[in-house]
Amino acid sequence: MPWCEPCGRYLTPSSTKADGTCPTCGSDVEAQERRTNEHLEEERAPWHFKLLVVALIAYLAWRIVDLFV
Ligand SMILES: [Zn+2]
Repeated sequence: MPWCEPCGRYLTPSSTKADGTCPTCGSDVEAQERRTNEHLEEERAPWHFKLLVVALIAYLAWRIVDLFV
């Protein structure tokens, strides 16, 4: 959902103007949303971090099984 920074509120896609600007203050909320999405792409965990998490879960599962066998 587009977030209008100057107004401090979310705008529904239908409440923005046709060109993607805020009807209240005229700022380009769609451009702001694109920047936010790009930022989220950068924040995604790298593959080696995911591998570490998977390895940790596998290790913990092995330890738990080891307790009961
Ligand atoms: Zn606004």
